[in-house]
Amino acid sequence: MLSSPSPPATVATALSRSDILQWLAEERPEPLKLLFRTADRIRREHVGDQVHLRGLIEFSNRCSRSCGYCGLRVANRGMERYCMTPDEILASARLAVQFGYGSVVLQSGEDHAITRGWVKALISRIRQETGLAITLSLGERHRDDLAAWKEAGADRYLLRFETSNETLFNRIHPPLPGPSGSRMALLATLHGLGYEVGSGIMVGIPGQSFEDLANDIETFRTLDLDMIGIGPFLPHPATPLGTRSSPAAAAAGAQVPNTGLMTCKTLALARMVCPDANIPSTTALATLQPDSGREQGLLCGANVIMPNLTPHRYRRLYEIYPDKACCGEEPLLCQQQLQELFRKIGRIPGSGRGDSPNLERRRAAVQTAA
Ligand code: SAH
Repeated sequence: MLSSPSPPATVATALSRSDILQWLAEERPEPLKLLFRTADRIRREHVGDQVHLRGLIEFSNRCSRSCGYCGLRVANRGMERYCMTPDEILASARLAVQFGYGSVVLQSGEDHAITRGWVKALISRIRQETGLAITLSLGERHRDDLAAWKEAGADRYLLRFETSNETLFNRIHPPLPGPSGSRMALLATLHGLGYEVGSGIMVGIPGQSFEDLANDIETFRTLDLDMIGIGPFLPHPATPLGTRSSPAAAAAGAQVPNTGLMTCKTLALARMVCPDANIPSTTALATLQPDSGREQGLLCGANVIMPNLTPHRYRRLYEIYPDKACCGEEPLLCQQQLQELFRKIGRIPGSGRGDSPNLERRRAAVQTAA
């Protein structure tokens, strides 16, 4: 066990790499309380008490990739595949309006049969009929697709880099045949196109070391992210990583555990190094700890929740990992549970689109320069 780390710096950007590594190794409850309290204070000072609600619409589970962690992988042939129609997607988006959410997140497997034009028309309709901010999460797409969708009115794009360890990433995310750019390069492209850019990682991927995780947190800082998603890795039995574990690495303390506590430490450190980012309390954390995960995330730095608005008949088929927390059976119930949670922990539902303060800062810098 490492020696006790010094108290977290009040200036978040001052966290050094060795501070980060020490915090990741910390296991004593009292210092960890201090870490979480500090992250919570930084969250309040920088992004306030509002919790922004983004309605998640998992519109297709078709996927051409073979990611070692994800249940949607192409080789998982036992799974029924679907793609919602634009009318069905619009109906889910209208629920977001009804519940007062400021935005929707359109997520799918990576499916190149989902064409540029189809997505473009969908974005235009959602834009015209709801006025919601639109986030896309469709995997790795060509720059021309991304540019067309931005032009059509998309605001944000989520693409997690999953792990900053390139060797590990290529092992769990085999490249497609032909030339392909890195996710890091795509994130830069998205910034250049004017998107609010979200990325993130899984905590406890088999083969992920503490050094890797410290690198991930430092990478959040260098990427100037608007949104950072951090969830525990949850094994899916129909995937290569769902059955593999390395007890030897775990025993040697070399393997990052995929626990709620480790996820919360990572989330708190992410808040400290990126104080202005929008950070969700993720569904994966709520799945791992159904009674407390959502709340814990909100108490150690998160300021966003993504309630699931996918119709039930499709939701059960979007099985990236098993037993996904769906926040109540019905969206209305979910809405009531969230209101109760916010009352309990003294937070308020976000109003408006919940744009990233980082984006506002970047826009102001461009105007000053002009
Ligand atoms: N096709 C899109 C969306 C994938 S699902 C893309 O690749 O970006 C969104 C996120 O869910 C992934 O980026 C990954 O971080 C997470 N995820 C997938 N499988 C998971 C698992 N088994 N455990 C935890 N998180 C998982």
